[in-house]
Amino acid sequence: MDDVVVIGAGVIGLACAHYLAESGRRVRVIEREAVGAGASHGNCGLLFTSDLVPLCTPGAVRKEILGMLRGTSPLFIKPRLDLGLIAWLVKFAAACRPDRLPAAMRARESILSSSERLFDELFSEGAVAADYERRGVLLVYRSEEEFDGYTAANRLLEPYGLAAEPLVGSALRSTEPALRPDLYGAWHHRTDAHLRPDALLHSWRGRLSRNGVLFTENCAVKGFRTAGGRIDAVIAPTGEIRARDVVIAAGAWAAGLLAPLGLKLPVQPGKGYSITMGRPARCPEIPCYLHERRVVATPWKSGYRLGGTMEFSGFGIHLNRRRLDALKSAAAEYLEEPLGRPVVEEWAGLRPMTYDDLPVIGRAPGVANLMLATGHGMLGVTCAPATGKLVAELICGEPPHIDPSPFGLHRFQ
Ligand SMILES: Cc1cc2nc3c(=O)[nH]c(=O)nc-3n(C[C@H](O)[C@H](O)[C@H](O)COP(=O)(O)OP(=O)(O)OC[C@H]3O[C@@H](n4cnc5c(N)ncnc54)[C@H](O)[C@@H]3O)c2cc1C
Repeated sequence: MDDVVVIGAGVIGLACAHYLAESGRRVRVIEREAVGAGASHGNCGLLFTSDLVPLCTPGAVRKEILGMLRGTSPLFIKPRLDLGLIAWLVKFAAACRPDRLPAAMRARESILSSSERLFDELFSEGAVAADYERRGVLLVYRSEEEFDGYTAANRLLEPYGLAAEPLVGSALRSTEPALRPDLYGAWHHRTDAHLRPDALLHSWRGRLSRNGVLFTENCAVKGFRTAGGRIDAVIAPTGEIRARDVVIAAGAWAAGLLAPLGLKLPVQPGKGYSITMGRPARCPEIPCYLHERRVVATPWKSGYRLGGTMEFSGFGIHLNRRRLDALKSAAAEYLEEPLGRPVVEEWAGLRPMTYDDLPVIGRAPGVANLMLATGHGMLGVTCAPATGKLVAELICGEPPHIDPSPFGLHRFQ
């Protein structure tokens, strides 16, 4: 019998394993493919801890639908009869209410600021290594109107000390010379950081293995046997695996594992793409979020990545050439030298999206030994350490370091 079984070896599963092992628990991580096979591999690696405003803000639906109709939005919803997706979209629209914003921002601030501190600890202790740098993030705008449109959101960040500094014209050029001279300006969120996600997973896995965490790869969990309101066994192709506690950290696929237990998890796969390259000669030094096109350009010492788009088209991860090309053409609108060589990888991954843009962390109602850690949407890397620490505290019966109540599954039941 295992002590704790974590299902899913993405950044969230590894973070849970880390803090559970630190608390003295014996952990086994079970992964359907290989460590880092999911969204945690090819994402943009921003530790976007200033991103307190959720996607579901007043006016978001109108803006995105107009953008989709005009063909200017990076959002794509494949037309099909998917009742789960339709319900998700309706609830997303309902969540875009101004009265919901303050509580959502407070919840996001709690997990993001905790993660920022914990990442600092992990990197300063040398626990993990991943081209980590704190240079902030530039939100870059071609148009003055769009740039001005960020002023209101930026004001919301002032009480948290996270407001960005505006950089217009020559101030932008001197801060980031890799950007084109014809851009209007950028907002510089100075406190944000970035890292290389694949390197993070590689080094974290190594550290966990050395600390006794066991990994079982190529093992897709099929379901659970329950008895007396508990998970009695995890059902895997190799047979049954028994454990005192079970953590579901299966990203976009978590809902499928919970449904047979009668639990509704409104997580939709939000497909994104990235292209990883060698550094161009005029490589940005600061990660740039190319705002009108919602594409991120992330530089590392070891390379350079363009990533973005949000496609609701189911669980397929085949590469759509048009979307990959759109990343390149977007970068060309903002950067002097948008592409590097060689192209190392073209990739697609599925973000686990909740309609209220908050993760799902906490005990599964009615199943005593089942813990959930999923639904991190566009911020899974950023939120990973605080999620892992909170999961370990809840399992070990320690006082939680942040209020878990905004993240509970009960909000959807
Ligand atoms: C293009 C793109 C850019 C992004 N940029 C950023 C960014 O800059 N910053 C940021 O913070 N976040 C970013 N994200 C979001 C981030 O990648 C995700 O939120 C995060 O990776 C989710 O981690 P996870 O561990 O929950 O899921 P995953 O990494 O998807 O891990 C889940 C794992 O569970 C496994 N699994 C599933 N089902 C089973 C089963 N039945 N049995 C066993 N194993 C199973 C899967 O194989 C997978 O390995 C981006 C995402 C995309 C797509």
